[in-house]
Amino acid sequence: MKIETLAIHAAADPDPETGAISPPIYLSTTFEHGPASEELHGYTYVRDKNPTQDRLEEALSLLEGGEGALVYSSGMGAAITLLLTLDPDSHVIFPEDVYAHVRVAHEQYLPKWNFQVSVVDMQDQKAIDHAIRPNTKLVWVETPSNPRMQITDIVGAARAAHSVGAFLVVDNTFATPVFQRPLELGADIVLHSTTKYCGGHSDVQGGCLVLRKRDQLYDKLFHARVVLGAVCSPFNSWLVLRGLRTLPCRMEKHAANALAVAKALETCESVERVFYPGLPSHPGHAIASNQMSNFGGMLSILVKGGREQAVAVAARVKLFRNATSLGGVESLIEHRASAEHPHSKSPENLLRLSVGLENPDDLIADLLQALNA
Ligand SMILES: *Cc1c(COP(=O)(O)O)cnc(C)c1O
Repeated sequence: MKIETLAIHAAADPDPETGAISPPIYLSTTFEHGPASEELHGYTYVRDKNPTQDRLEEALSLLEGGEGALVYSSGMGAAITLLLTLDPDSHVIFPEDVYAHVRVAHEQYLPKWNFQVSVVDMQDQKAIDHAIRPNTKLVWVETPSNPRMQITDIVGAARAAHSVGAFLVVDNTFATPVFQRPLELGADIVLHSTTKYCGGHSDVQGGCLVLRKRDQLYDKLFHARVVLGAVCSPFNSWLVLRGLRTLPCRMEKHAANALAVAKALETCESVERVFYPGLPSHPGHAIASNQMSNFGGMLSILVKGGREQAVAVAARVKLFRNATSLGGVESLIEHRASAEHPHSKSPENLLRLSVGLENPDDLIADLLQALNA
Protein backbone atom coordinates (compact mmCIF):
# COMPACT_ATOMS: atom_id res chain seq x y z
CA MET A 1 0.00 0.00 0.00
CA LYS A 2 1.29 3.48 -0.81
CA ILE A 3 1.92 5.89 2.03
CA GLU A 4 -0.98 8.26 1.25
CA THR A 5 -3.39 5.32 1.53
CA LEU A 6 -1.65 3.91 4.58
CA ALA A 7 -1.82 7.27 6.37
CA ILE A 8 -5.60 7.26 6.01
CA HIS A 9 -6.25 3.57 6.71
CA ALA A 10 -3.60 2.52 9.26
CA ALA A 11 -5.31 1.62 12.56
CA ALA A 12 -8.49 3.24 11.26
CA ASP A 13 -11.07 0.48 11.74
CA PRO A 14 -14.41 1.93 12.86
CA ASP A 15 -15.15 1.72 16.59
CA PRO A 16 -16.61 -1.81 17.09
CA GLU A 17 -19.22 -0.58 19.61
CA THR A 18 -20.72 2.26 17.58
CA GLY A 19 -19.27 2.24 14.06
CA ALA A 20 -17.79 5.69 14.67
CA ILE A 21 -15.41 6.49 11.82
CA SER A 22 -13.39 8.98 13.86
CA PRO A 23 -11.96 6.94 16.74
CA PRO A 24 -13.19 7.52 20.29
CA ILE A 25 -10.85 9.02 22.90
CA TYR A 26 -10.70 6.78 25.96
CA LEU A 27 -9.92 9.17 28.79
CA SER A 28 -10.32 6.52 31.51
CA THR A 29 -7.21 6.18 33.66
CA THR A 30 -8.21 2.75 34.91
CA PHE A 31 -9.87 -0.37 33.55
CA GLU A 32 -11.91 -2.98 35.38
CA HIS A 33 -9.99 -6.10 36.35
CA GLY A 34 -10.79 -9.31 38.21
CA PRO A 35 -10.62 -9.70 42.01
CA ALA A 36 -7.01 -10.90 41.83
CA SER A 37 -6.06 -8.22 39.27
CA GLU A 38 -6.81 -10.49 36.31
CA GLU A 39 -6.76 -8.38 33.15
CA LEU A 40 -10.26 -8.60 31.63
CA HIS A 41 -10.15 -6.26 28.63
CA GLY A 42 -6.46 -5.97 27.75
CA TYR A 43 -5.92 -2.79 29.76
CA THR A 44 -5.14 -1.96 33.39
CA TYR A 45 -3.86 1.56 33.96
CA VAL A 46 -3.35 4.53 31.67
CA ARG A 47 0.42 4.80 32.24
CA ASP A 48 0.85 1.24 30.92
CA LYS A 49 -1.28 1.58 27.80
CA ASN A 50 -4.71 2.64 26.65
CA PRO A 51 -6.84 2.04 23.53
CA THR A 52 -6.34 5.48 21.92
CA GLN A 53 -2.59 5.24 22.36
CA ASP A 54 -2.64 1.70 20.90
CA ARG A 55 -4.19 3.02 17.71
CA LEU A 56 -1.56 5.71 17.37
CA GLU A 57 1.25 3.22 17.96
CA GLU A 58 -0.11 0.85 15.35
CA ALA A 59 -0.42 3.68 12.81
CA LEU A 60 3.12 4.94 13.48
CA SER A 61 4.68 1.50 13.18
CA LEU A 62 2.85 0.88 9.89
CA LEU A 63 3.93 4.28 8.52
CA GLU A 64 7.61 3.77 9.44
CA GLY A 65 7.60 0.08 8.50
CA GLY A 66 8.51 -1.14 12.00
CA GLU A 67 7.20 -4.02 14.09
CA GLY A 68 6.31 -1.86 17.09
CA ALA A 69 6.04 1.72 18.29
CA LEU A 70 5.90 3.42 21.67
CA VAL A 71 4.55 6.93 22.18
CA TYR A 72 5.77 9.42 24.76
CA SER A 73 4.80 12.75 26.28
CA SER A 74 7.29 14.58 24.04
CA GLY A 75 10.23 13.98 21.73
CA MET A 76 12.55 14.55 24.70
CA GLY A 77 10.52 12.06 26.74
CA ALA A 78 11.19 9.46 24.04
CA ALA A 79 14.89 10.42 23.81
CA ILE A 80 15.60 10.27 27.55
CA THR A 81 13.64 7.05 28.06
CA LEU A 82 15.70 5.44 25.29
CA LEU A 83 19.00 6.64 26.79
CA LEU A 84 18.04 5.42 30.26
CA THR A 85 17.58 1.85 29.02
CA LEU A 86 21.34 1.67 28.30
CA ASP A 87 23.63 0.15 30.92
CA PRO A 88 26.09 2.40 32.81
CA ASP A 89 29.50 2.68 31.11
CA SER A 90 27.84 2.51 27.69
CA HIS A 91 29.42 4.68 25.02
CA VAL A 92 27.05 6.78 22.89
CA ILE A 93 27.96 8.76 19.76
CA PHE A 94 26.09 12.00 19.01
CA PRO A 95 26.28 14.34 16.03
CA GLU A 96 27.76 17.84 16.38
CA ASP A 97 24.60 19.40 15.02
CA VAL A 98 21.69 17.98 16.98
CA TYR A 99 18.46 19.17 18.55
CA ALA A 100 19.54 21.59 21.30
CA HIS A 101 18.06 19.71 24.27
CA VAL A 102 19.57 16.41 23.14
CA ARG A 103 22.90 18.25 23.36
CA VAL A 104 22.01 19.56 26.83
CA ALA A 105 21.09 16.00 27.86
CA HIS A 106 24.40 14.51 26.76
CA GLU A 107 26.46 17.40 28.16
CA GLN A 108 24.77 17.75 31.55
CA TYR A 109 23.14 14.42 32.37
CA LEU A 110 24.85 11.54 30.56
CA PRO A 111 28.18 12.01 32.38
CA LYS A 112 26.27 11.91 35.71
CA TRP A 113 24.64 8.67 34.63
CA ASN A 114 28.10 7.25 33.88
CA PHE A 115 27.79 7.17 30.12
CA GLN A 116 30.72 7.88 27.83
CA VAL A 117 29.90 10.35 25.09
CA SER A 118 31.59 11.19 21.78
CA VAL A 119 30.48 14.05 19.56
CA VAL A 120 31.38 13.77 15.88
CA ASP A 121 30.75 15.46 12.55
CA MET A 122 28.37 12.89 11.10
CA GLN A 123 28.66 14.28 7.60
CA ASP A 124 32.02 12.47 7.64
CA GLN A 125 31.76 8.67 7.56
CA LYS A 126 35.40 8.28 8.65
CA ALA A 127 34.69 10.35 11.76
CA ILE A 128 31.86 7.97 12.72
CA ASP A 129 33.98 4.86 12.03
CA HIS A 130 36.83 6.34 14.06
CA ALA A 131 34.58 7.12 17.06
CA ILE A 132 33.28 3.54 17.42
CA ARG A 133 34.53 1.75 20.56
CA PRO A 134 34.03 -1.84 21.74
CA ASN A 135 31.48 -0.56 24.31
CA THR A 136 29.55 1.69 21.89
CA LYS A 137 25.88 0.83 22.49
CA LEU A 138 24.07 3.56 20.57
CA VAL A 139 24.79 5.79 17.59
CA TRP A 140 22.50 8.82 17.42
CA VAL A 141 21.78 10.27 13.99
CA GLU A 142 19.67 13.31 13.16
CA THR A 143 19.30 13.83 9.41
CA PRO A 144 18.51 16.44 8.21
CA SER A 145 19.83 18.01 11.43
CA ASN A 146 18.37 20.84 13.45
CA PRO A 147 19.16 23.61 12.63
CA ARG A 148 22.04 23.34 10.15
CA MET A 149 20.32 20.80 7.88
CA GLN A 150 23.38 18.53 7.83
CA ILE A 151 22.98 15.14 6.15
CA THR A 152 24.27 11.83 7.52
CA ASP A 153 24.48 8.69 5.40
CA ILE A 154 22.13 6.34 7.30
CA VAL A 155 23.46 3.17 5.61
CA GLY A 156 27.05 4.07 6.58
CA ALA A 157 26.09 4.97 10.16
CA ALA A 158 24.20 1.67 10.49
CA ARG A 159 27.21 -0.29 9.25
CA ALA A 160 29.46 1.45 11.80
CA ALA A 161 27.00 0.89 14.68
CA HIS A 162 26.39 -2.75 13.82
CA SER A 163 30.13 -3.50 13.59
CA VAL A 164 30.14 -3.56 17.43
CA GLY A 165 26.52 -4.61 17.97
CA ALA A 166 25.33 -1.07 18.80
CA PHE A 167 21.87 0.22 17.92
CA LEU A 168 21.37 3.01 15.42
CA VAL A 169 18.64 5.53 16.26
CA VAL A 170 17.60 8.07 13.62
CA ASP A 171 15.71 11.21 14.60
CA ASN A 172 13.36 11.40 11.60
CA THR A 173 11.43 14.45 12.80
CA PHE A 174 12.38 16.70 9.85
CA ALA A 175 12.01 14.19 7.00
CA THR A 176 9.07 12.12 8.35
CA PRO A 177 8.37 8.60 7.00
CA VAL A 178 6.91 10.27 3.91
CA PHE A 179 10.39 11.27 2.68
CA GLN A 180 12.88 9.05 4.55
CA ARG A 181 12.64 5.41 5.68
CA PRO A 182 15.46 4.86 8.21
CA LEU A 183 14.40 1.31 9.17
CA GLU A 184 14.75 0.22 5.53
CA LEU A 185 18.23 1.80 5.45
CA GLY A 186 19.45 -0.19 8.46
CA ALA A 187 18.37 1.85 11.49
CA ASP A 188 17.07 -0.07 14.51
CA ILE A 189 15.02 2.75 16.02
CA VAL A 190 13.29 5.82 14.59
CA LEU A 191 12.58 8.76 16.88
CA HIS A 192 10.07 11.52 16.26
CA SER A 193 9.03 14.64 18.00
CA THR A 194 5.40 14.14 16.97
CA THR A 195 4.91 17.72 18.20
CA LYS A 196 6.18 18.72 14.77
CA TYR A 197 5.02 17.33 11.39
CA CYS A 198 3.12 14.28 12.70
CA GLY A 199 0.80 16.49 14.78
CA GLY A 200 1.18 19.18 12.15
CA HIS A 201 -0.96 21.95 13.64
CA SER A 202 1.16 23.36 16.50
CA ASP A 203 -1.38 22.18 19.07
CA VAL A 204 -0.08 18.93 20.55
CA GLN A 205 3.12 17.66 22.16
CA GLY A 206 4.32 14.09 21.76
CA GLY A 207 7.16 11.80 20.84
CA CYS A 208 7.62 8.26 19.62
CA LEU A 209 10.10 5.47 19.07
CA VAL A 210 9.44 3.03 16.23
CA LEU A 211 11.37 -0.23 16.36
CA ARG A 212 12.48 -2.43 13.50
CA LYS A 213 11.93 -5.55 15.63
CA ARG A 214 9.47 -6.24 18.37
CA ASP A 215 12.01 -7.99 20.60
CA GLN A 216 13.70 -7.48 23.98
CA LEU A 217 14.45 -3.84 23.16
CA TYR A 218 10.73 -3.17 22.76
CA ASP A 219 10.03 -4.86 26.11
CA LYS A 220 12.78 -2.85 27.80
CA LEU A 221 11.47 0.42 26.37
CA PHE A 222 7.89 -0.44 27.31
CA HIS A 223 8.98 -1.17 30.89
CA ALA A 224 11.09 2.01 31.06
CA ARG A 225 8.13 4.10 29.91
CA VAL A 226 5.90 2.68 32.63
CA VAL A 227 8.54 3.41 35.27
CA LEU A 228 9.76 6.80 34.03
CA GLY A 229 6.24 7.98 33.23
CA ALA A 230 6.81 10.04 30.07
CA VAL A 231 3.77 8.52 28.40
CA CYS A 232 1.55 10.13 25.74
CA SER A 233 -1.90 11.05 27.10
CA PRO A 234 -5.08 9.71 25.43
CA PHE A 235 -6.08 13.15 24.14
CA ASN A 236 -2.61 13.89 22.76
CA SER A 237 -2.52 10.43 21.15
CA TRP A 238 -5.81 11.24 19.44
CA LEU A 239 -4.54 14.59 18.13
CA VAL A 240 -1.32 13.09 16.75
CA LEU A 241 -3.31 10.29 15.10
CA ARG A 242 -5.57 12.87 13.51
CA GLY A 243 -2.51 14.73 12.25
CA LEU A 244 -1.04 11.58 10.68
CA ARG A 245 -4.05 11.23 8.38
CA THR A 246 -2.95 14.27 6.36
CA LEU A 247 0.83 13.88 6.81
CA PRO A 248 1.68 12.79 3.22
CA CYS A 249 -0.31 15.54 1.54
CA ARG A 250 0.98 18.20 3.94
CA MET A 251 4.59 17.05 3.44
CA GLU A 252 4.35 17.32 -0.36
CA LYS A 253 3.25 20.95 -0.07
CA HIS A 254 5.76 21.77 2.70
CA ALA A 255 8.56 20.42 0.49
CA ALA A 256 7.42 22.19 -2.68
CA ASN A 257 7.14 25.48 -0.78
CA ALA A 258 10.50 25.05 0.95
CA LEU A 259 12.25 24.35 -2.37
CA ALA A 260 10.69 27.47 -3.92
CA VAL A 261 11.75 29.56 -0.91
CA ALA A 262 15.27 28.06 -0.90
CA LYS A 263 15.76 28.82 -4.60
CA ALA A 264 14.52 32.38 -4.21
CA LEU A 265 16.76 33.02 -1.20
CA GLU A 266 19.81 31.57 -2.93
CA THR A 267 19.73 34.44 -5.42
CA CYS A 268 19.14 37.12 -2.76
CA GLU A 269 22.04 39.57 -2.23
CA SER A 270 21.57 39.75 1.55
CA VAL A 271 21.84 35.98 2.03
CA GLU A 272 25.26 34.43 2.57
CA ARG A 273 24.20 30.74 2.50
CA VAL A 274 21.04 28.68 2.17
CA PHE A 275 21.03 25.25 3.83
CA TYR A 276 18.39 23.12 2.12
CA PRO A 277 19.30 19.54 1.13
CA GLY A 278 17.24 19.86 -2.06
CA LEU A 279 19.63 22.47 -3.47
CA PRO A 280 22.55 21.09 -5.53
CA SER A 281 24.79 23.57 -3.64
CA HIS A 282 24.11 21.73 -0.34
CA PRO A 283 27.12 19.59 0.72
CA GLY A 284 24.80 16.69 1.58
CA HIS A 285 22.71 16.90 -1.60
CA ALA A 286 24.03 13.68 -3.18
CA ILE A 287 23.45 11.56 -0.06
CA ALA A 288 20.10 13.22 0.59
CA SER A 289 19.01 12.47 -2.98
CA ASN A 290 19.93 8.84 -2.37
CA GLN A 291 18.17 8.30 0.93
CA MET A 292 15.26 10.77 0.76
CA SER A 293 12.41 10.87 -1.74
CA ASN A 294 12.00 14.63 -1.15
CA PHE A 295 13.71 17.17 1.09
CA GLY A 296 11.13 18.41 3.56
CA GLY A 297 9.86 21.77 4.74
CA MET A 298 12.77 23.00 6.86
CA LEU A 299 15.67 25.20 5.82
CA SER A 300 18.08 27.63 7.37
CA ILE A 301 19.95 30.64 6.05
CA LEU A 302 22.99 32.65 7.02
CA VAL A 303 22.26 36.35 6.72
CA LYS A 304 25.11 38.53 5.42
CA GLY A 305 26.60 40.55 8.26
CA GLY A 306 26.09 39.04 11.67
CA ARG A 307 23.74 38.61 14.58
CA GLU A 308 22.32 42.13 14.32
CA GLN A 309 21.41 41.76 10.63
CA ALA A 310 19.82 38.35 11.20
CA VAL A 311 17.69 39.55 14.12
CA ALA A 312 16.67 42.62 12.06
CA VAL A 313 15.40 40.35 9.28
CA ALA A 314 13.42 38.29 11.81
CA ALA A 315 11.96 41.56 13.12
CA ARG A 316 10.79 42.67 9.65
CA VAL A 317 8.86 39.59 8.49
CA LYS A 318 5.09 39.97 8.51
CA LEU A 319 3.69 36.61 7.39
CA PHE A 320 6.31 34.38 8.99
CA ARG A 321 5.87 34.37 12.77
CA ASN A 322 8.75 34.55 15.19
CA ALA A 323 8.24 31.40 17.21
CA THR A 324 10.04 28.23 18.12
CA SER A 325 9.00 24.74 17.01
CA LEU A 326 8.21 23.67 13.45
CA GLY A 327 6.11 21.48 11.24
CA GLY A 328 2.80 23.30 11.61
CA VAL A 329 0.65 24.66 8.80
CA GLU A 330 1.91 28.22 9.44
CA SER A 331 5.37 29.47 8.50
CA LEU A 332 7.73 30.20 11.40
CA ILE A 333 11.12 31.87 11.60
CA GLU A 334 13.62 31.75 14.45
CA HIS A 335 17.03 33.15 15.34
CA ARG A 336 18.32 29.88 16.81
CA ALA A 337 21.33 31.31 18.64
CA SER A 338 18.89 33.37 20.76
CA ALA A 339 16.43 30.50 21.23
CA GLU A 340 19.09 27.95 22.20
CA HIS A 341 20.93 30.31 24.54
CA PRO A 342 23.16 29.57 26.48
CA HIS A 343 23.84 26.14 24.97
CA SER A 344 23.78 27.21 21.35
CA LYS A 345 26.33 26.09 18.79
CA SER A 346 24.36 27.74 15.98
CA PRO A 347 26.00 30.52 13.94
CA GLU A 348 24.96 33.98 15.16
CA ASN A 349 23.69 34.94 11.70
CA LEU A 350 21.55 31.81 11.24
CA LEU A 351 17.78 31.95 10.85
CA ARG A 352 15.76 28.73 10.78
CA LEU A 353 12.61 28.62 8.69
CA SER A 354 9.72 26.19 9.02
CA VAL A 355 7.99 26.69 5.69
CA GLY A 356 4.22 26.33 6.03
CA LEU A 357 1.39 25.66 3.65
CA GLU A 358 0.69 29.22 2.50
CA ASN A 359 1.12 30.19 -1.15
CA PRO A 360 4.89 30.21 -1.81
CA ASP A 361 4.74 33.54 -3.68
CA ASP A 362 3.44 35.24 -0.55
CA LEU A 363 6.13 33.62 1.58
CA ILE A 364 8.92 34.61 -0.82
CA ALA A 365 7.63 38.18 -1.07
CA ASP A 366 7.56 38.43 2.73
CA LEU A 367 11.14 37.14 3.11
CA LEU A 368 12.52 39.33 0.31
CA GLN A 369 10.97 42.50 1.73
CA ALA A 370 12.51 41.63 5.12
CA LEU A 371 15.92 40.82 3.60
CA ASN A 372 16.12 43.71 1.14
CA ALA A 373 14.83 46.47 3.43
C1 LIG B 1 11.52 19.35 18.65
C2 LIG B 1 12.53 18.32 18.38
C3 LIG B 1 12.85 17.35 19.34
C4 LIG B 1 12.26 17.37 20.73
O1 LIG B 1 10.89 17.12 20.73
P1 LIG B 1 9.85 17.72 21.81
O2 LIG B 1 8.56 17.15 21.38
O3 LIG B 1 9.93 19.22 21.72
O4 LIG B 1 10.31 17.22 23.15
C5 LIG B 1 13.76 16.36 19.00
N1 LIG B 1 14.34 16.34 17.77
C6 LIG B 1 14.06 17.25 16.83
C7 LIG B 1 14.74 17.17 15.51
C8 LIG B 1 13.16 18.28 17.10
O5 LIG B 1 12.90 19.20 16.16
